[in-house]
Amino acid sequence: MTTTSELRIEGLHASVAGSPILRGVDLVVRSGEVHAVMGPNGSGKSTLSHVLAGRPGYEVTAGSVALDGVDLLAMEPWERAQAGLFLALQYPIEVPGVQLIDVLEASFAAGGHDPSVVPALVGAEAERIGLDDRLLHRALNVDLSGGEKKRSETLQLAVLRPRIAVLDELDSGLDIDALRDCARRVEQASNDGLGVLAITHYSRLLDELRPDVVHIMVKGEIRESGGPDLATRLDVEGYAAWLPVGEEPTPEPAPDPYADPFADPLA
Ligand code: ADP
Ligand code: MG
Repeated sequence: MTTTSELRIEGLHASVAGSPILRGVDLVVRSGEVHAVMGPNGSGKSTLSHVLAGRPGYEVTAGSVALDGVDLLAMEPWERAQAGLFLALQYPIEVPGVQLIDVLEASFAAGGHDPSVVPALVGAEAERIGLDDRLLHRALNVDLSGGEKKRSETLQLAVLRPRIAVLDELDSGLDIDALRDCARRVEQASNDGLGVLAITHYSRLLDELRPDVVHIMVKGEIRESGGPDLATRLDVEGYAAWLPVGEEPTPEPAPDPYADPFADPLA
């Protein structure tokens, strides 16, 4: 059975700590499509992923987000996951005391699926993605290298089989081999029908994960959308062509690898 899914973002405006960050984002991602959202640091790419996932503290001030016609913004984060949305974090969090297999079994059970199939699925995916199976029994992301964390995120995606995946800088902090393996696995998932919103700063991710559409986000807006050649142009010209004269990219806040991504940033 193949069903087609659609993530529809319309006129999305969002603020953090009272500052407007997203200023009218329109994007439609369908099953089997790969959309790349590229942009300079501080342009609001991670904010978009956090708003889609439902992180507290991100206030939607206008616009809508629907997954298969259902209002995503009215749902709790876990309901969004159950509806088929997956988010791979730019900085995966460490969860002491909880193993990857536990997380995936709990997700299966919560979604009404038989969790007893999880260990076999995880084993097969670990081999496919090149994740050492000793790491499967470590606490989630604890003491993993950047590349291992991203392989682990990709493995979770492959096992959970969401409808739409938002990947926030899958390429940050990983070596070229891990990048190739993760990007390839996501590309295969998209060929099997996954819709992908791949947020990235550099075009190297897109050597393996072939985008259908490339969007350039600057200052919380999509300033241009086009084919894969847009990413190539970006490689040559940088982001300068999309920044008006005198406009500087906003610096991105320094990452905190221990921060809880679902904590309220204002608390
Ligand atoms: P990108 O991922 O494109 O580098 P971000 O979405 O992380 O950009 O940040 C966009 C803007 O929002 C930046 O100016 C940043 O300082 C601001 N911002 C993001 N998160 C927070 C937060 N939790 N508190 C205050 N400002 C934030
Ligand atoms: Mg970011």
